[in-house]
Amino acid sequence: MAKNITGRPGLYVHIPYCDTKCAYCDFYSITRQDSRAAFIPALIREIHSYGREPYTRNTFDTIYFGGGTPSLLSVEELSRILEALRQTFPLAEDSEITLEANPGTIRPEKLKAFKELGVNRLSMGIQSFDDADLKALGRLHTARQALQSFAEARRAGFDNISLDLIFALPGQTLKRWRDNLKTLLELAPEHVSAYNLIYEPGTLFHRWREEGKLKAAPGTLEEKLYVTTMETLENAGYIMYEVSNYARGERYYSRHNSKYWDHTPYLGFGPSAHSYWPEERWSNIRSARGYNQKAHAGEPTVSFQEQLGTETRMFETVMLGLRTRRGVDLKRFAKHFKNDFGAIFRPQTEKLIREGFARIEDNHFRLTAKGLMICDEIIPHFHHD
Ligand code: SF4
Repeated sequence: MAKNITGRPGLYVHIPYCDTKCAYCDFYSITRQDSRAAFIPALIREIHSYGREPYTRNTFDTIYFGGGTPSLLSVEELSRILEALRQTFPLAEDSEITLEANPGTIRPEKLKAFKELGVNRLSMGIQSFDDADLKALGRLHTARQALQSFAEARRAGFDNISLDLIFALPGQTLKRWRDNLKTLLELAPEHVSAYNLIYEPGTLFHRWREEGKLKAAPGTLEEKLYVTTMETLENAGYIMYEVSNYARGERYYSRHNSKYWDHTPYLGFGPSAHSYWPEERWSNIRSARGYNQKAHAGEPTVSFQEQLGTETRMFETVMLGLRTRRGVDLKRFAKHFKNDFGAIFRPQTEKLIREGFARIEDNHFRLTAKGLMICDEIIPHFHHD
């Protein structure tokens, strides 16, 4: 029998198309558009295939269009997808509907039309306000276009905008990053995601680094950039509520992404999209063509599926919780796993508390600012072999 779930689930839609492939990107994204005509009906078929128990028993309260570049969708395409979602799933009145948008791909009329369709949050892939950085990243837009797109989004009435920035780029100095943060604060977005550059295997950046064609920022600089980001944004009134995410107040926390961090279920549609529904996780084929064929044939588009055992779920709860400012909710942990967090992880927690990397507060085990900075090193210690 399907389990009852806690919290309202979310919906994710992956739009894989991009105008160009950025040199650092390891998302499933493609520039060829020839599969696109078949894609929208395939996506709608997949969405409808979930119109059954246990999914439809719940009220969903987020929709997130990620990619790829969802802002390349036409108004008509977005409208058809939203209609399919609304027909299939009960949606809360106040649902958060986010769309990732790249500067240069959104014109004022389109922004207004997206807003009228119900999109109430934009996540803009700015990455940097420095043209040299943007060129190095392989982005198509310029700093000027980024500023212009932001202004246009405001004019279209978007009052919940998130900006993405990337730091520790090759050749980036502390001063250049500070200038980036200064521009960011002048715009005063409601939400900021600031990621440090990762050289993911399979990306051009990874290859260039291996071939010595570019030099990664030294670890000490990376740390300085991270601390500068945290201090600058916190001083400006932002709350760092996850290792890379900041919001101007709790109501601007990304409701959708928070589901990933606290194990609230979500369904993902489109090629490469992931889903989680207790106690199972699955993901779709990472090919638009393959996805279209399967969906049109009425076959499952899933290429990976796993049941999550207690140990895995426990580790993931800790891993995801430790990445957030709030930390691991000890009461919820005890209720969920019928087990005491402190007793299971005593050696790890005592050491971290002693060394100033973590503390227990308000029934939560959380990392301090010092701990959050090295959370990728800390987390594996909670893994049970
Ligand atoms: S626009 Fe985004 S998804 Fe597309 S290639 Fe660049 S980083 Fe990847």
